[in-house]
Amino acid sequence: MYRIRFHGRGGQGMKTASRILGTAFFNEGFEVQDAPRYGAERRGAPIFAYVRAARRAIYERGVIRHPDLVIVADETLVAMPAAAVLQGVDAHCVVLIHSREPAPVWQHRLNLAGPVVILPLAEEREDRLALRQIGTACAAAAARLVGVVAWTALEQALRDELAALGDALVEANLGPARRVYDFLSPQQGCVAPGPVVAAEGYVRPDWVELAFEDARVSAPAIHAALTSEQVQTGQWRTLRPVIDCARCKGCWWVCSTFCPDGAIQVDESGRPRIDYAHCKGCMVCAAQCPHHAIEAIPEQDAPPAEDERGAK
Ligand code: SF4
Ligand code: SF4
Repeated sequence: MYRIRFHGRGGQGMKTASRILGTAFFNEGFEVQDAPRYGAERRGAPIFAYVRAARRAIYERGVIRHPDLVIVADETLVAMPAAAVLQGVDAHCVVLIHSREPAPVWQHRLNLAGPVVILPLAEEREDRLALRQIGTACAAAAARLVGVVAWTALEQALRDELAALGDALVEANLGPARRVYDFLSPQQGCVAPGPVVAAEGYVRPDWVELAFEDARVSAPAIHAALTSEQVQTGQWRTLRPVIDCARCKGCWWVCSTFCPDGAIQVDESGRPRIDYAHCKGCMVCAAQCPHHAIEAIPEQDAPPAEDERGAK
């Protein structure tokens, strides 16, 4: 059975990637499961989607914990514990990363025993505020790496899954998908299916006694006040707003009012400061700043946020 996980950010098309790949497997005669898993359903938040495909009925359920292939659409997720990109990755698992850096760098950095494949990051986009849409490219990459999905099956899947979005969008996606499919032809079939896990050898775990806790400890405090500060939404960012002090005129009531997360505060000298632990990179502030004093920097090109936090 093939077990494939797609990791990306909300808005990058990972759910679509799993749909396309699942349908392509189905077109090749496989039994298929595909499903997305969201946390907070917001643009930029880490999400993953997964596909199981086998030549016989699939009885496994739930998220994939031991993948054969992991596709990482956004390299900044690798360092984010909440994204759990490397969960269950072992020497058998192939990891494909959409990155500018070569495979040996990632292999060394992550101390991976299994193969790493790079899908080169496209150069700078015209519109920095646009999130990279790479779902179809990731689906094409997965189809090529498993080696059992022909281009015709993938093309049909892509047409079927994107049909509702119109012919122009389908055609716009076919070209990039084909280029990725061709680019990865040297690695065709490098993903081997993992064994089917049978229920016969399952050993029921011992009964575990949980200590009785006070309700304030044991239950989630969903009605408690001031909890949003505990959620570090700065990890969702793909673009970082950076204030150009030379252009900033100090009209803080504009940017701080428009920031939907209250992530722009005002310092003692009346200048705006961005709280990068909670700024989720929506770029509303950049769009609203009347003096164009806020630049959008791709997160991977920006200096560490720790150094900049509150320093603007
Ligand atoms: S709106 Fe722009 S110019 Fe005004 S304080 Fe904010 S960053 Fe500075
Ligand atoms: S990008 Fe700007 S508006 Fe959006 S959360 Fe960050 S500081 Fe606030």
